[in-house]
Amino acid sequence: VHHNTNTDFSLRNSLQAFTLSMDLMPGGVNSPVRAFKSVGGQPIVIDSVKGSRMWDITLITIRKMICETNELCRFKTKILIMHCAMEIMAWLLFSVVLATLAETMKKGTSVGAPCLLENTLAEMVISAVPSIEMIRSVNSGTEACMGALRLARAFTGKQKIIKFEGCSHAMLILFLLRQLTSNTLTALFNDILAIEKLFENHKGEIAALILEPAVGNSGFIVPKLEFLDTIRKIIKENNALLIFDEVMTGFQLSYGGAQEYFGIVPDLKTLGNIIVSGLPVGAYGGRRNIMKMADTLSGNPLAMAAGIEAQKLIKEAGTYEYLDEVTGELVQGILQVGKRSGHSFDLAKFASFYRGMLEQGVYFASSQFEAGFTSLAHTTEDIKMTIAAAERVLRQIG
Ligand code: PLP
Repeated sequence: VHHNTNTDFSLRNSLQAFTLSMDLMPGGVNSPVRAFKSVGGQPIVIDSVKGSRMWDITLITIRKMICETNELCRFKTKILIMHCAMEIMAWLLFSVVLATLAETMKKGTSVGAPCLLENTLAEMVISAVPSIEMIRSVNSGTEACMGALRLARAFTGKQKIIKFEGCSHAMLILFLLRQLTSNTLTALFNDILAIEKLFENHKGEIAALILEPAVGNSGFIVPKLEFLDTIRKIIKENNALLIFDEVMTGFQLSYGGAQEYFGIVPDLKTLGNIIVSGLPVGAYGGRRNIMKMADTLSGNPLAMAAGIEAQKLIKEAGTYEYLDEVTGELVQGILQVGKRSGHSFDLAKFASFYRGMLEQGVYFASSQFEAGFTSLAHTTEDIKMTIAAAERVLRQIG
């Protein structure tokens, strides 16, 4: 099979599969961002992932033909370097994690009762994250955020929640908006005055403030240090709780997450599937006296087993130095070619850039506002190829 990253690729298989899925799932997808609405075109349907690469479903046709004819065939499949490794965490593909999963599966996929793996993973996360003294694992990042907010309300006996515009806590926000609009207050990220005002105007009513400590869902917004410092102080003075939604930043920004990186300790913190290298899981944790009131459940043995292996891997020396290095190379490289091209970006231009990059075999998150991720599987070669592709695409788009 001749793999070719750039040319001779037909989207026919993906198109067929996506057309079918439109009848089966709302919008044809199980997560709205996957529908490519903001970048146009149609999603590529993926067959398999390994390391920093993924293959579209043309691979199925190729395998079938090889099987039937016992011959190598001329079809070319799309190989993509991915830079949105959130839910398709490249870590998942480390053979050691896969081997552990296979072993665990033999014992059954769910026990509905405590399993030892839960203790092991809990110990690992607690020892990694300074603010977490006790942890509760659930099935998704959304559930983790909902659990943390319910807990904050139960613990403080107050109802109102502050959130920031542009911080996505996924489906949680729809839930808050629909059911509890009057109890949800919003402010702009990095706006200290707004937070002071909200606490003044709603004295004794605010249970918690939830935020992404570095915003990954509306472009990438870095917090001003005095912003995090001040909100930490105000929240404490008002007997409310600070919740860091670290579904994106936990174990990615640094081993201890954004809280370690910025040196600010939240009362509760949420984590997503990053802890288990790609299986559906979430978790929230924090101070023991708060966590004792937690009331959600999960602890799927498969997710726990993958989590334990993933935790071992990321604990190895050099993990975060390497992530920093490849991320730095990627960001600097793209900034440089961007500058040389003289483009300034808007949504329409990003959509052209995005589709151009796909044609070149590079898969970013399909929204201008969603942060990308590098993983331990990304090589310097992957980064060079991505930057070279970006240069070509920027030259092509008008
Ligand atoms: N919080 C943040 C910051 C997220 O980026 C996401 C999902 O991308 C979520 C929460 C929800 O996580 P999940 O998709 O596992 O429900």
